[in-house]
Parts: sequence; structure tokens; C-alpha cells
Amino acid sequence: MPPTISRIVQALEPSATMAMAAKARELRASGKTVYDLSLGEPDFDTPSHICQAAAQAMDSGHTHYTVASGIPELKQAVVDQYLSAHGLEYAPQQVVISNGAKHALHNVFTVLLDPGDEVIIPAPYWVSYAELVKLTGAVPVIVQTAEADDFKLTPDALARSITKNTKMLLLCSPSNPTGSMYSPDELGQLADVVIDAAVIDRDLLVVADEIYERLVYSGHQFASFATLRPELPERTILINGVSKTYAMTGWRIGWSMSPANVAKAIGGLQSQQTSNACSISQYAAIAALTGPQQCVDEMLAEFAKRREFVTRRIAEIPGLSCAEMGGAFYAFINISRHLGRSYDGVRIDNSTQWCLELLSQKSVATVMGSAFGTEGYARASFATSMENLEAALERIEQFVTQ
Ligand code: PMP
Ligand code: GLU
Repeated sequence: MPPTISRIVQALEPSATMAMAAKARELRASGKTVYDLSLGEPDFDTPSHICQAAAQAMDSGHTHYTVASGIPELKQAVVDQYLSAHGLEYAPQQVVISNGAKHALHNVFTVLLDPGDEVIIPAPYWVSYAELVKLTGAVPVIVQTAEADDFKLTPDALARSITKNTKMLLLCSPSNPTGSMYSPDELGQLADVVIDAAVIDRDLLVVADEIYERLVYSGHQFASFATLRPELPERTILINGVSKTYAMTGWRIGWSMSPANVAKAIGGLQSQQTSNACSISQYAAIAALTGPQQCVDEMLAEFAKRREFVTRRIAEIPGLSCAEMGGAFYAFINISRHLGRSYDGVRIDNSTQWCLELLSQKSVATVMGSAFGTEGYARASFATSMENLEAALERIEQFVTQ
């Protein structure tokens, strides 16, 4: 008899972004040309000065375990960056370096959530949030936002979702999967609800995933959540990392910045669980944060061109639309007007069927909106070449106009 998988993991949905990317890879391995808009990872190579820092770290013998919570120089670089970019004063011991922001999030949930605690997650949300919350036995409380509100949680909707069991609110701005961004004023209004809610029972905590903070397009302004009200640093956990900003997805470096007791708990957890994040990658991340930043501007300029192109093309395709992307590199395409009909004899009623059929008929990989908690949409990542985007959108047009 095969071993029984634990109940908690049986209930876990594998990452749909990873699954679609794997399907695209499989098709490519079978000899097909695939236009892959599935995964949110920059297509650029990691800038060479960062790679050189990694090589130098190896040559200098930094190939051993480090302090479990991360090397002091990297924590200091993170602290310095938040001070200079946002005026936020953190101590290095409030930073824990983990194996990517995904791991940092899992750690935060593990040390803060007890079974039955409620976590408010505005939808559409990044695939891993709800699943990682469920792993702790806590309950994701999904609050749908509307395309007409640019997929932003309103203060009223937030206030209505808070119960005596609410422990945490999760915010992601700029957002994966919609690219939408809260203005500083909008974040401030949410912060006021959070602060007022604290009188009900206990402090409501906010996990602010700011991993796309440097990928913001002109006309939009990023504000770190903890800067908005003086009360916020003690009830906010900031999540960030190098994956998106510096095209370093494979290096697996991300971090949390939290109140000192939370950071200490995360450090303890990580010391039992994974020990340190890769020593060499940590040195590379120092070079990323403290070295020349021109590479970030160059990549952003390229993303901006692609964003403009994708926005224009989606608007041109009959029946498709998408909200304005203020940041990140995703278009969350409204496909609802193209559901409930046949495509080459195949009836398509939901986003999963639409994305799978688009891949099978036109070799274009996207991710179904349902994986992000919102039906009727498909996410297209534009962290891929213009050539790929041109071909993919041409094929999407052929697909929906057939
Ligand atoms: N948060 C968001 C919103 C993301 O899109 C990603 C991308 N995977 C992550 C966290 C995790 O990033 P990583 O683990 O590569 O640092
Ligand atoms: N965050 C990226 C995405 O949403 C990478 C994949 C993942 O970590 O889920 O596509």
C-alpha cells in the first residue's frame, strides 16, 4: 500500500505558475515552439558584477554555513537600502535572510499563525499566499476586489472582513497577478482601518509583500507600507528579495523585516529547518544591493516598452481587456467575454480550460485566473522578449477570434 500523505499536504494545491511553466517546458522538450508567458521571472541574465561577486565569494572561501538568519553584511545592506529608499529605520537583527521571498513568507506565517487564525487575502492574489497560510492550519479569508477598482481592496471591504479571529492582512503592491498598485493615500486609508481594528482584540498584523517595489512605471508611486503611519512598523512584516529586481530568481535570496521578537522566532525556525540561505548567493545579493543600480533602470525601461505593447495589443483584441499595470510584469487579462463558447469544437467555460486549450491549440502558455482566486481571467507575464510577446499576442488574437 502506498504511504499516506499527511492531511495538511493532501489539501495543498501545487503552484499553478510552476505547473504551467513545467507544461510549457515539456512541450518545448517534445520539439514544439512554445510562447511562454507563464512564469514571472525576468528573462535577463543576472548582471555580471553580481555574478563576479559570487565567484569572488567562492574564491575567498565563503562556501560554508553562515549564521542561520543570514550574514551580517547582507542584513546591513538590506537595512541601509530601506533607510535610504524609504527613511525606515530597522536594526539588522530585524532582518532574516531566507531562500527566496516565498520561503520568507512561509516562515512568517509559520511563526505567527495558529490554527483557526484568519488571514485576509485580497483576490486576485499570488498563488502561494493562500496555500502557505493553509499549511499552518490558519484560514485564508479571500476578499474579492473588482477590476473597476483596479483590483484594490477598499477600506470598507477590509473593515467588513475583520472578525475577532483576524490575525493578519496580506498586501502585495505592485501586485502579482494584476500589476495594480495602491497609491500612498490608498495604503494610508487601509492602514487606518488596520490601526482602528487593533482595539477589537489584538493588533492586526500586515504582511506587505514589496518584492516588485523597484518595478514601478511612470505615473505611479511606491510607498513602503510601514512608512504610512507611525504605529505601523511594530505591526508590519515587510517581504522583499532580489529575484525580480536583479533578475536573480535562481539564486534564492529573499528576506523579511519584522518586529524583533518575530525576527528572532523566524531565525530560530530557520536554524532548524534549512540553516542559512546559500552563502554564495548571499554575497551576490550584497553586490546587488550595494553595487551599481543602472542595471535595474535598464531592465525597467525594457519592461516599460513591453508593458506598453501588451496594453495596446490587448485593447486591440476583440473582447479582451486588462486593468492598468502600475508595476510588476503581469497583465491580468479579462477573458470572461470569451468563455461559454466553442474553440475548434472544444467548449470552454472557465479560465483553466481556456489556458489549457490556448496552450494546446496555439502553444501559448499563460496562467488561469482561478489559480489566483479570480475566475474569468488569464495572467500573462511580460518578463519575456518582445519577439515572444508579439508572437504570443498574435496567437491569442487568432485563438479568440476563430
Ligand atoms: N511574492 C510575490 C508576489 C511573487 O510574485 C514572488 C515570485 N515568485 C515571490 C513572492 C517569491 O519570490 P522568490 O521566492 O523568488 O524570492
Ligand atoms: N512569482 C512568479 C510567478 O508568479 C514565479 C513562480 C512562483 O514562484 O510561483 O510566476
